[in-house]
Amino acid sequence: MFEAVIAEILDVVDPAKVYVGALIPEKYLHDEALAVAPQRPLCVVLAKSDSEVSAVLRLAFEANVPVVPRGSGTGLAGGATPTEGSIVLSTELMNTILEIDQENYTATVEAGVTLEQLDDALRSLEFVYPVFPGELGSTLGGNVATNAGGMRAVKYGVTRHQVLGVEFVLMDGTLVKSGGKYVKSSSGYDLTQLVIGSEGTLGIVTKVTVRIYPRPKHTVSLLAPFVNLVELTACVPKLITSENVPLVLEYMDANGLYAMAKRVEMDLGIPAAVRETAQAYLLVVLEGSDWDDLTNQKEHAAQILILQGAIECYFLTDKQGEDLLLARESAFWVSKAAGANDIVDAVVPRSEIAGFLKVVGVLAQRTNSYISGAGHIGDGNVHFSIFQPDPELLDEVQEEIFRYVVSVGGAVSAEHGIGIAKRNHFYETEDADNLEIMGRIKLAFDPKWLLNPGKMLK
Ligand SMILES: Cc1cc2nc3c(=O)[nH]c(=O)nc-3n(C[C@H](O)[C@H](O)[C@H](O)COP(=O)(O)OP(=O)(O)OC[C@H]3O[C@@H](n4cnc5c(N)ncnc54)[C@H](O)[C@@H]3O)c2cc1C
Repeated sequence: MFEAVIAEILDVVDPAKVYVGALIPEKYLHDEALAVAPQRPLCVVLAKSDSEVSAVLRLAFEANVPVVPRGSGTGLAGGATPTEGSIVLSTELMNTILEIDQENYTATVEAGVTLEQLDDALRSLEFVYPVFPGELGSTLGGNVATNAGGMRAVKYGVTRHQVLGVEFVLMDGTLVKSGGKYVKSSSGYDLTQLVIGSEGTLGIVTKVTVRIYPRPKHTVSLLAPFVNLVELTACVPKLITSENVPLVLEYMDANGLYAMAKRVEMDLGIPAAVRETAQAYLLVVLEGSDWDDLTNQKEHAAQILILQGAIECYFLTDKQGEDLLLARESAFWVSKAAGANDIVDAVVPRSEIAGFLKVVGVLAQRTNSYISGAGHIGDGNVHFSIFQPDPELLDEVQEEIFRYVVSVGGAVSAEHGIGIAKRNHFYETEDADNLEIMGRIKLAFDPKWLLNPGKMLK
């Protein structure tokens, strides 16, 4: 039966863009999730148009073969990792920027366009799409599917806040168009928002329309070391409620920051006396187009940091600021190279961050785990790299973290998604009625439960 489906697929797409069995390149067997085992699919199809996506899905639907959508495979939850006996359908070759509309402030792209590609195109026109998850090789389709966030979410929100419309294909091959280049609508259920964050379980996204903004001309970066985590976390609401919300507000524990700086060969220039006492650092980046205004913002932020107990406040040069952002973006690779067993991206209300950091510290000691924190503290979303080689203890640490965050009003995943990696913990902590409704929505879109089965939902 599988041979028959593959033969039919080879009739509707370019055979050079279909990999079968042992010829499938290794990168398609997994994404970047640390704790999800690779799996070989039946075949990998690199679709070049929405009509190819539709034709392949229809054939798979008729033959009852599961399909796993894939963008660039940079996901951290196992969402694009193949399931047994599946077809991987990648949108990476659908990479045309269809329109940059400078009147409506929108960009419309095919799903396989990467963030880097879009940013390059927008930079020359002095525009920006403001969602910057740490991996710019990721695709807009993947960003929509995971509701990607990243460092600038503290100011601009996540993918969900910047997407105006999507086109997607259902498992039976139906092409659905939702939303468009307009900024408000009260016209029925919002299918765009339903597909955002659905992790490829409802449809395969083929086209995305996003908001774009005039590109601010200048940024300034500040780095502030703290001895005391309670004082550090107390800065967060003050910086956010100050007149100008920072573009970036990141937390890095001291060891993590030094390892990241080393990776990008950056000399932080922090005196030894400060390094000896600092437990963690806040990185604040501010943006603006008026230099005087930005200088005022910078001084105001520095005042908050020092008043709240920072040991120092370093104003970085443009080059240092860029290098430090690069260093921060390398956090995942630093943790992976150091042997982290998994990474969690749970989120808590901002008011609960201090308690969350304390609980994780105690948990690390009790379970003899090393847990390193870095992340989007302005969103209540500090990522923890967990070093615990014993799988049972690792699971216990994660479960305690997830139960805690839910108990204080947070959620299991802020931006990486549930995928396979967090599915069991999601089921342990999510409200049963919510799970039931999600299952019914899934059935309405995908009655045979063939699209990315086993991801997010059981
Ligand atoms: C170094 C590093 C840093 C990262 N930093 C961040 C960060 O700061 N913030 C953040 O949010 N994420 C971050 N990520 C995670 C990752 O980049 C995002 O999840 C991204 O959105 C995945 O995009 P992708 O194209 O690689 O998708 P993939 O990994 O290929 O797929 C991700 C999910 O989307 C589905 N999918 C992919 N394409 C489609 C499509 N066209 N239609 C429907 N479903 C689809 C897949 O089935 C899967 O469930 C980081 C990853 C790395 C490696």
